[in-house]
Amino acid sequence: MAKILLTGGAGYIGSHTYLALIDAGFDVVILDNFSNAKPDVPARLEDITGRPAHVYEGDVLDRAVLEQVFSDHTIDGVVHFAALKAVGESVEKPLDYMQTNVGGLLNLLSAMDHAGVRRIVFSSSATVYGDTDIQPIPEDHPRTYTSPYAFTKIAGEQILEQLPDDWAVGILRYFNPVGAHGSAMIGEDPEDIPNNLVPYIAKVATGELERLSVFGDDYDTPDGTGVRDYIHVEDLAEGHVLSLKSLLETGEGHTVNLGTGEGSTVLDVVHAYSEACGQDLAYKIAPRRDGDVAVLTARPERAKEHLGFEAKRSLADMCRSSWAWVSGQRRNDPN
Ligand code: NAD
Ligand code: UDP
Repeated sequence: MAKILLTGGAGYIGSHTYLALIDAGFDVVILDNFSNAKPDVPARLEDITGRPAHVYEGDVLDRAVLEQVFSDHTIDGVVHFAALKAVGESVEKPLDYMQTNVGGLLNLLSAMDHAGVRRIVFSSSATVYGDTDIQPIPEDHPRTYTSPYAFTKIAGEQILEQLPDDWAVGILRYFNPVGAHGSAMIGEDPEDIPNNLVPYIAKVATGELERLSVFGDDYDTPDGTGVRDYIHVEDLAEGHVLSLKSLLETGEGHTVNLGTGEGSTVLDVVHAYSEACGQDLAYKIAPRRDGDVAVLTARPERAKEHLGFEAKRSLADMCRSSWAWVSGQRRNDPN
């Protein structure tokens, strides 16, 4: 059974990918510094899988911890999620973003090299495409950055592209991951007022926030609101399993979009969520948000051709799973 190191494995996408990897028969070790994860995530993963989770609480910037993990375990491949991810914060703290996202990657790669591990799946993002009218976006679209966060993802991709031929690298560019695990025991859990659409709507549905501001209704889209390619986090997690299997089996790398190819407007999401939670959700039309693009959707064909990946879950599934998760959390912790 292949053994995988999952950095950032206690986070939103990492925890779902942990479960998908265990389901697929991998042995998994998590390294996370819990800077953006709740301490009870490992116990929840243990409850869902019924087996102990191997978790190192440590930082990808700490070379000694990485050396320890690679000496304690014979690792066959790495899935690297550990990073800072808030676009707005990256403008305030660009050096923190470069240090964690670029410095952390370099540190990890050098520890991998030392241990002779040369298979890595990298969490990239559709943000590397910048602001473009070409939709849906193909992978060979030029990269450009509009924030320090986007810069760190492009830098990460470029560093990985410099590695010698005995490395195999999977670069996965995610579109908009939403939803939660079918068990409703893990999901996205932002501490502050959410910036992202679905977590914000979820807090309107639980009554924690009064109403959603829809950022702009005068875009050139079917109802004037922004269009995004929302992908269920469980589909995304399964994409990582396919990417890893492909690296381990073929020794060949790939760069692929992980999206559905389908666009939904902000109001489509509001209506789907409203159906899922069985109540009307209050919203008002607000000005456009700085830096937003009208439409962002993936060309999904390459992931299908190279990995056999196809997103299976609908927008309704995404909203239902999100609601099951947040309403369950709210019952457990009504404050
Ligand atoms: P997340 O914040 O929930 O997960 C990241 C995890 O990494 C957290 O558990 C955090 O505690 C950990 N971490 C952060 N810095 C660390 C460090 N220095 N050492 C060890 N652990 C550290 O975020 P997520 O949404 O699950 O995103 C995972 C990855 O996917 C990130 O690389 C992110 O940039 C990328 N991504 C996310 C999205 C999205 O919309 N969620 C979109 C595109 C790309
Ligand atoms: N959006 C919105 N109100 C919010 C948050 C987001 O209208 O409170 C819109 C945003 O303008 C975009 C879409 O929802 O059209 C998705 O935004 P999100 O921040 O979730 O993801 P992004 O694509 O910006 O990374």
